[in-house]
Amino acid sequence: MIFAKRALVKENWLENVRITVENGRISEIKNGQTLRPDDTRVDTLLPALANLHSHSFQRAMAGMTEYHMIGKDSFWTWRNLMYKFTAHLTPEHVEAIAAFVFLEMLEAGYASVGEFHYLHHQPGGAPYDDLGEMSARIAAAAATTGIGLTHLPVLYTYGGAGEVALEFGQLRFGNNVDQFNKLVTRAQLAVSDLPADCHVGVGLHSMRATSPADLASVLDGRSKGPVHIHVSEQPKEVADIQAWLGARPVEWLLENADVSSDWCLIHATHMTEGETTSMAKSGAVAGLCPVTEANLGDGPFNGATYLNAGGAFGIGSDSNVLISLVEELRTLEYSQRLRDIARNVMVVGEGSVGQTLYVGAARGGARALERGAGEIAVGSLADLVAIDSTVPALCSLRSDQLLDGLVFAAKDGVVTDVWSAGRHAVQSGRHVSRDQIISNYRAAMFSVTESI
Ligand code: ZN
Repeated sequence: MIFAKRALVKENWLENVRITVENGRISEIKNGQTLRPDDTRVDTLLPALANLHSHSFQRAMAGMTEYHMIGKDSFWTWRNLMYKFTAHLTPEHVEAIAAFVFLEMLEAGYASVGEFHYLHHQPGGAPYDDLGEMSARIAAAAATTGIGLTHLPVLYTYGGAGEVALEFGQLRFGNNVDQFNKLVTRAQLAVSDLPADCHVGVGLHSMRATSPADLASVLDGRSKGPVHIHVSEQPKEVADIQAWLGARPVEWLLENADVSSDWCLIHATHMTEGETTSMAKSGAVAGLCPVTEANLGDGPFNGATYLNAGGAFGIGSDSNVLISLVEELRTLEYSQRLRDIARNVMVVGEGSVGQTLYVGAARGGARALERGAGEIAVGSLADLVAIDSTVPALCSLRSDQLLDGLVFAAKDGVVTDVWSAGRHAVQSGRHVSRDQIISNYRAAMFSVTESI
């Protein structure tokens, strides 16, 4: 039983709330209760967010790509550095890094992750003896940490728009559709060893890394789970797709694929007003990764138009250059304010920006990962986060101001407890296996940097 001094139950703040969790789901919620000796007592309980987009291995290169050389640095020069780094990673490294990343996500207040996974093969592109070796490593990291995993094996067949062959640095990512379907089946087997809330969807790297025929084939053959794809992250990508297919990537997908509520369009940064409203009406979730999008110089999302059209959104940490739930939400809003020279942009009509961002990302993220969570309600998965509202940054705020304080004035350290489908992974601000996971990560990083 969890006893919270205050809890956000659906959209209402209730006090002295006892929550019962059975088989990973919330079975009972009662307010006006008194503390019992066997309760886990917390201050303020919120639905925990899903981190809907991650490439966990990229966390290990954070801080290695911020040095400016003569010439213009760009997303594309960053990508070349990422390819070089990737060449040195073994399956053991990938598992240790993923476990550390999942630990950081849990400690930041995320209960689940969409791991958009495209590092499949050996350096040079030959598959491992076990085609799903790397997927099994991701599943093992999820088991170690207790995070709720939506594993998204990624189809990555081409090196650029127009079925261009993969470059050397991309060979570890490559599969044709037949091999990809086998990989998805193998990934499902690996994830079947995890708790029942963990599952497998389908990732398509981007329109530039697939073809219309392959896309249709994968979509026709899939059985279940969400579909995630990078779209329109960079202006060059939009121009390349337009030159090849005669339409911008979001425009093409909306016209040619059955984009609906089980889709998540990652980044969706460069969209026209028409694409923005059409995407909002499709029911797809916009997978926004504001910290990475700022770090890579992608540009800001068309937030106000999208929200006003009723669009769903969630947040992800993508490159994992920094894992911070509050920083993602804050950067999302601040990117809008800086572009528009305005305040309080990400809200429809009058209301709390922090609550709009937090509640919207909770619901959209859960939908994107098909988790049956996103709010504190009977029947929902017990994806829960407790924060300490007595810290100086939050202590003077009313309940209706609390999420504004969390998003704009607090740090991740206010998180005291996190449950993922009832698994109490973070207690007193620390992951329960923190020391061992960090020790393994340090050893992996020494090994990687020695080999570079
Ligand atoms: Zn990504």
